[in-house]
Amino acid sequence: AARAQLSAPGSEANMTRRTKIVATLGPATDTDRALSDLIAAGVDLVRVNFSHGAFDDHARRIARIRTLATKAGRVVGILGDLRGPKVRIQRFASGKTLLVDGESFALDPSFDPDAGTDKVVGVAYESLPRDVRKGDTLLLNDGLIALEVTRVEGTRVHTRVTMGGEISDMKGLNKLGGGLSAGALTDKDREDIRMAAELGVDYLAVSFVRNADDVREAWDLLRAAGGEGRIVAKIERRDAIEHLEEIIDASSAVMVARGDLGVEVGYAELTGLQKRIIGLARARNRLVITATQMMESMIYAPVPTRAEVSDVANAVMDDTDAVMLSAETAVGKHPAKVVQAMAQVIVGAEKWQTSNRSDMQRVVGHFNFTDEAIAAAVMYTANHMDVRAIVALTESGSTALWMSRIRSDIPIYAFTRHAATQRRVTLYRGVYPVAFDVTHPAPEQMYPSIFQRLIDDGLAAEGDLIIVTKGEFSGVSGGTNTMKIVKVQGAQP
Ligand code: ATP
Ligand code: MG
Ligand code: MG
Repeated sequence: AARAQLSAPGSEANMTRRTKIVATLGPATDTDRALSDLIAAGVDLVRVNFSHGAFDDHARRIARIRTLATKAGRVVGILGDLRGPKVRIQRFASGKTLLVDGESFALDPSFDPDAGTDKVVGVAYESLPRDVRKGDTLLLNDGLIALEVTRVEGTRVHTRVTMGGEISDMKGLNKLGGGLSAGALTDKDREDIRMAAELGVDYLAVSFVRNADDVREAWDLLRAAGGEGRIVAKIERRDAIEHLEEIIDASSAVMVARGDLGVEVGYAELTGLQKRIIGLARARNRLVITATQMMESMIYAPVPTRAEVSDVANAVMDDTDAVMLSAETAVGKHPAKVVQAMAQVIVGAEKWQTSNRSDMQRVVGHFNFTDEAIAAAVMYTANHMDVRAIVALTESGSTALWMSRIRSDIPIYAFTRHAATQRRVTLYRGVYPVAFDVTHPAPEQMYPSIFQRLIDDGLAAEGDLIIVTKGEFSGVSGGTNTMKIVKVQGAQP
């Protein structure tokens, strides 16, 4: 059975870390050794990006991570990420090329998709020649390379390189100011949703959502395909900012997808938007992931830049549930080292935050649900008492979610018998899954079994004060209506 997510033996950073780490899988994590190292470094969820690779690649990676996590006694959630209508260049004959400032370079949807050179490359978007005009700025790879359109001739878009650099296969292409991509779900996405259902992903990220309807459509398709995962809306286009509240309400989680968002709204807007999105998501009882370039220099470098350290720390202080790694782990030089470094930065930021408990309780607002009210009461109490741990006996994880929306430094253990719930809570800040079958112990043995489990897993000791929440009847979803403050007692001799 999966043990509590205290994870990573020998890694002190993980003992108290609340903010979760999502790491993207890719060629750099394709050995069992690399995956095991990633797990040992404390990764909470892995992301499989359906933009890169085929069904077999994803299926193999997911199967391996599940096997290795179980072997390590850990629970690792799976996040599938749909490609969406992102416009991408095709491939280069040699995998990559160098674009030099001032040189000309062409994009051509009719060009051989595997034969790109330093003069021309294919694009997986037929209408590109109709969508751009002379003078437009095109950005590659989340804005790292800029091209100015000089003329359109048939299917070929001629440009001049205004900001050059190395560029590799399948990088994203945007028009400055937005306007290239269409509806959120492509035909490929619809197929990939069926694949995601078959792969049993715990979360499914929908790219380039415009409004709540896009999100609802993804839910419907996932459920129709038999998938039980939760939908994550990626906030990465201007339209989404205008419909932020309704998108958040329609989703289980949102992702601040800073790559495309920075191109669409201009990167100077990003920091303010990040804070707004995180604040709104948490206030509306939703999860939030902060993504893109968080430790970018560590694709190669052994240590992060100080700017990256600050970026991760600030996302933690903004109250994000999780921070995400993309190329750093998918194609980086040392994926596990990046996770370790990120974990250290998180713990440092959380330590600072904990020294200021004053804004930890929710003081305004009305409660609409019983479990919401219980969760708020628990967090208020826990933050004002010497409580060692919170134990939420939970079916779906709903009470633990409410709890984790309120800032605290006290660990919340989601005791649940459902493997899906264990994997789901890997994304909740400050919540750790514990495999525990509430329907198993006889009623008078319930508390002794909880205590024993906490002691066995090293989560609490005899004499510690803990808060337990549960429903009247064990095994009923959404029924939490009780909180109890109890002292941990060891087994009777
Ligand atoms: P998205 O817009 O969905 O984030 P992306 O192309 O930016 O798409 P990321 O998952 O953010 O992809 O990863 C960043 C980079 O890492 C990619 O551009 C690609 O070069 C590389 N990469 C990621 N996953 C893979 C993979 N499975 N196979 C090959 N390269 C990958
Ligand atoms: Mg993106
Ligand atoms: Mg990306």
